[in-house]
Amino acid sequence: MFLSQSVLEQKKIKGDRPLDISVVVPIYNEVDSIPTLIDKIADILTKSQYSYEIICVDDGSTDGSTELLKQVAPKRTDLKAILLRRNYGQTPAMAAGFNYAKGEIIVTLDADLQNDPEDIPVAIDKLAEGYDLVSGWRKNRQDAKLTRLLPSKIANWLIAKVTGVKIHDYGCSLKAYRAELLADLNLYGELHRFLPALAYIEGAKITEIPVRHHPRRHGSSKYGLDRTFRVLMDLLTIWFMKKFLTRPMHVFGSLGLISLMSGFILGVYLTFLKLGLGENIGNRPLLILVAILIVTGLQLFSFGLIGELLIRTYHESQGRPIYRIREIIESKC
Ligand code: UDP
Ligand code: MG
Repeated sequence: MFLSQSVLEQKKIKGDRPLDISVVVPIYNEVDSIPTLIDKIADILTKSQYSYEIICVDDGSTDGSTELLKQVAPKRTDLKAILLRRNYGQTPAMAAGFNYAKGEIIVTLDADLQNDPEDIPVAIDKLAEGYDLVSGWRKNRQDAKLTRLLPSKIANWLIAKVTGVKIHDYGCSLKAYRAELLADLNLYGELHRFLPALAYIEGAKITEIPVRHHPRRHGSSKYGLDRTFRVLMDLLTIWFMKKFLTRPMHVFGSLGLISLMSGFILGVYLTFLKLGLGENIGNRPLLILVAILIVTGLQLFSFGLIGELLIRTYHESQGRPIYRIREIIESKC
């Protein structure tokens, strides 16, 4: 069921963007799926009362997808094709789509028809309940068990543990976002998989809905098993950002303090042995430990200070406030 426009207004989804919905699709060598995909999305969204656009981002395809988009886009009013100069990867392709999207709500999905456009309205309705991000959960995923499903299960468990965002399926591309949330998120590398985690850091309200999933009918997957390791590295980045982004001195400074204090206490003990009891301490491993603890402590302190400077540059260079506002309520009179 679609919510009516007025409900969108009431739910404060509508702001000053000209369209209701932008569907962003990253495309890399998916020529056989494109026509069906566009028709299906358009079909479902024209039935709704929403104004919409489909943004196809061609990520340097070499199979004729580019030519196909060049042909189709001028003929349709609801389609915008963004052709990237070369293959950058799914994250930059999606970021390009987000930058040019004019909708209040931005929906993403894969071009290979593994996601079902029928789920778009379901995700939008859920978003209108008051969420900032709705993520798809491929409950009945149609991919190879050992090479895809197992690594993905482990990765999802780990990501949920580390980031604290308890959703089941980070890898599902079908997601709906409030555009204002995406405007706050900066994407790098392959971080599109971690959008819910990045959104959570920005204070977003996140939920998930079960979505359909189909086997790939045309073309082939662009990722192999090596993706698992890249995901793990990205997870480290996210963990770091979540933990340290706003308070590096607290983290590094506390560790530095512990290290310095232990070094100091052990150093006093050694001094007492030497000066008080006249023992020889020159050949004691403890002396080396004291030196290491003090040097490490000072270094951790310096990391914290440099971190603080970097954070200030990060926020101030972009005019980024250190808080995020959901809504401001004030009397109109
Ligand atoms: N994709 C892209 N650039 C790339 C790799 C993939 O735009 O460098 C697109 C691809 O065309 C598809 C989506 O990203 O629409 C997801 O890719 P794929 O279906 O291969 O991933 P899987 O579903 O197998 O995880
Ligand atoms: Mg796919």
